[in-house]
Amino acid sequence: MEKRLIIAIDGYSSCGKSTFARLIAKELNYIFIDSGAMYRAVTLFCMRKNYINYRSLNTSAILSEINNIRIDFVFNPDLNEYETFLNSENVEKEIRGMEVTAHVSKISQIHEVRERMVELQRQISVSEGIVMDGRDIGTVVFPHADIKIFMTASLDIRAKRRHSELKNKGVNIDFDEIKRSIIARDIADENRDISPLKRADDAIVLDNSRMTVDEQMLWIKQIINNKRNGS
Ligand code: C5P
Repeated sequence: MEKRLIIAIDGYSSCGKSTFARLIAKELNYIFIDSGAMYRAVTLFCMRKNYINYRSLNTSAILSEINNIRIDFVFNPDLNEYETFLNSENVEKEIRGMEVTAHVSKISQIHEVRERMVELQRQISVSEGIVMDGRDIGTVVFPHADIKIFMTASLDIRAKRRHSELKNKGVNIDFDEIKRSIIARDIADENRDISPLKRADDAIVLDNSRMTVDEQMLWIKQIINNKRNGS
């Protein structure tokens, strides 16, 4: 039987990491975990309790409740996709909104939040094969992953993609605001003290600025084949 691989995909915000990771998991019939969705769900929990807003962050309140936050990925057969649930509530749409996006990098800087998320991420059965995307998957969560990819794309292209994604969802938002939000998250994620976003030494860089999704899939299939053939 073919060895089931752990594939770690890290990189900058709005590079298409989740789209790519999801497609790889479908292709290989592996589990896909969007680790960003977990940080987003914790952020939504904190926003609802008013532990975080644009002016303040109540870290001790967050820590006192960290073990009351349950996150599940539940399969929706109509969409043929997994959706994120926070304490049994489907929050898939809400966690993608601009407000959660604006706060998530502050929540993901909290040491105990990261510890808890990494613990949950490692509990997911890897024996079935897994594709996980995030910021610290190849460096911290699965340092022994079989394949590590570090994704990047030009800022303008990332902002354009995010802009049209939001437009398709009926969200009208200024292009420059999206650009500012991406820059702010990149800076916060790269410069935090704990598990900052960085390329693992053994990660392969994928700059998909000028690549279609099909081209990216051809590229990764080659890498998977090489791994399996031991080259
Ligand atoms: O991938 P996504 O943009 O949904 O991630 C949202 C945020 O969650 C990131 O900006 C980052 O602050 C945090 N995150 C993280 N570590 C991960 C995944 C996401 O810190 N593994």
